[in-house]
Amino acid sequence: MRNTKPLGLAAMAAAAALTLTACGGGGGETGGGGETGGSGENVRIGIKYDQPGLGFRDGEEYTGFDVDVATYVANELGYSADQIEWVESPSANRENMLANEQVDMIFATYSITDERDQTVDFAGPYFVAGQDLLVRADDDSIQGPADLEGKNLCSVTGSTSAQKVKDEHPGVNLVEQGGYAECVTFLESGQVDAVTTDDIILAGLASTEANQGKFKVVGNTFSEERYGVGLPQGSEQCEAVNEAITKMIEEGAWEEAVTANTQGADYSYNEELNPPEMEPCGE
Ligand code: GLU
Repeated sequence: MRNTKPLGLAAMAAAAALTLTACGGGGGETGGGGETGGSGENVRIGIKYDQPGLGFRDGEEYTGFDVDVATYVANELGYSADQIEWVESPSANRENMLANEQVDMIFATYSITDERDQTVDFAGPYFVAGQDLLVRADDDSIQGPADLEGKNLCSVTGSTSAQKVKDEHPGVNLVEQGGYAECVTFLESGQVDAVTTDDIILAGLASTEANQGKFKVVGNTFSEERYGVGLPQGSEQCEAVNEAITKMIEEGAWEEAVTANTQGADYSYNEELNPPEMEPCGE
């Protein structure tokens, strides 16, 4: 299923040079050609900018669990923190961003699925979440997606969360937005009755200062979302990324990162599924 065709270093450098020429001005490139791999250049990492506790941008500061795992892995691959160039990777753009070589890796609450595996490679998983619902704090009428028949539910274009609702709950009115924060605004104003995506994302959104006390996560997960590291198809980095994640888990840095990034959120991860075992590369 995965493309295991080996890409030599020279071919990769040629492809990188081509991309730079073809997409100059696309934003985010680090200047200059002659990129030959190694630690003398930057690494472009795709993250979310609007998911507090996971991938979040505040001015020049990037925070969250995805950011911490990405920083750790990049370090293990030979990149210091200041060699990381963060690039926003909304849910709907992730496969294209990897295929077009706009990023080298993606750490963006990016579930490993067979469909995505047709066009990108995945290392990991580095976390397992579950799809859930966010509702207004005073609403006890919604316990799961079956309670949303005929009601309005918001999710994000290109996410597994939206796809699951379309596949399994066609009677729900699905409203799609570009990001989950927009969905939360709709929930507050009453335009939708619930927001759906992974429990850890919803918990992070509910715990921001502006949202305190307004919403609650229902707490009945109805999927398993294995967060993978997205890599361009044919990448030779998968094994090294898996080794780095394994080391992060064994050293205790993974646990520290989860704890620090979920502090203040009403969230605890599924201990039966976390921390996960790495899946073999190239399958
Ligand atoms: N983990 C799910 C996905 O990859 C939902 C979260 C997201 O949209 O990033 O689609």
